[in-house]
Amino acid sequence: MCKRFLWNGDKEGKGKALIAWETLCWPKAAGGLNITDMYVWNKAAILKHMWNLCKKKDKLWIVWVHTFYLKGRDPWGVDIKQASWMVKKILKAGQWLIEKGLQVTEIMEETNFSIKKMYQVLKGEYNKVPWRRLTCNNLGSPKWVFALYVAIHRRLYTKDRLSNWGIIGDDVCALCKAEVETHQHLFFSCNFSKQIWHKMLNWLLITRGCEGWNEELEWAIGYAKRKSIVADVYRMALAATIYYIWQERNLRIFQQKERTTGMISRLITQEIHQRASMIPRLTGYMRNLNFYP
Ligand SMILES: [Zn+2]
Repeated sequence: MCKRFLWNGDKEGKGKALIAWETLCWPKAAGGLNITDMYVWNKAAILKHMWNLCKKKDKLWIVWVHTFYLKGRDPWGVDIKQASWMVKKILKAGQWLIEKGLQVTEIMEETNFSIKKMYQVLKGEYNKVPWRRLTCNNLGSPKWVFALYVAIHRRLYTKDRLSNWGIIGDDVCALCKAEVETHQHLFFSCNFSKQIWHKMLNWLLITRGCEGWNEELEWAIGYAKRKSIVADVYRMALAATIYYIWQERNLRIFQQKERTTGMISRLITQEIHQRASMIPRLTGYMRNLNFYP
């Protein structure tokens, strides 16, 4: 569903990857979605086989490998040409640890081996991204937060990108019909979306004008650092506004339907109220926002 939403409403759901898979496999604080990288997980699982081998656990296949191939040698030092594919793979796994600058002997001699821990070791260090507070623990609906996440990566299929790839010929914004549709324009230098976000900021009792996505994002990162209910509601509102602006843009392009800025901002506030009503610590604050922008 998410994919279809992002791929311009294409029902087939086909298309290029929005964001590189490797990025998605990083922890959330590092800008990923914490999806398990199966390639790396598989390496960790193979290393567990190797560890079992070193521990000479009482399993038939291990006894067999020891008897026929190792004959008293360490599993990571040998190169056995006639072994089966799987056995060779296990015997070569020590290289992955060496590449990471780790001591194979130390790891193999440990009393426990956790695939999860090994996965983290193989995955390596990561840097936290400055915008992590906008998406981590955002109380908005998952589809809003996902839209925000993709917009932060500037990976929505905006018309400037599609036209650069030669997929479409027209790159004019469907909302204002005046300028080129880019991330910078849609959020929120566009006259149409600017009005919506301006209404939302007023509703949040934040007095400030709005500019393009680069400037908004920078300001949002600073504001979201606060640990307060006000910032919680702001983060939800930002995600919801991105989502509904993108939805409006798709409705106009694919279904020839149009809503006014007033209709959209009312819809966003209703949706936020509805979600907030399920979160007890927000209900008190939300009473202050019991009006339409
Ligand atoms: Zn526009």
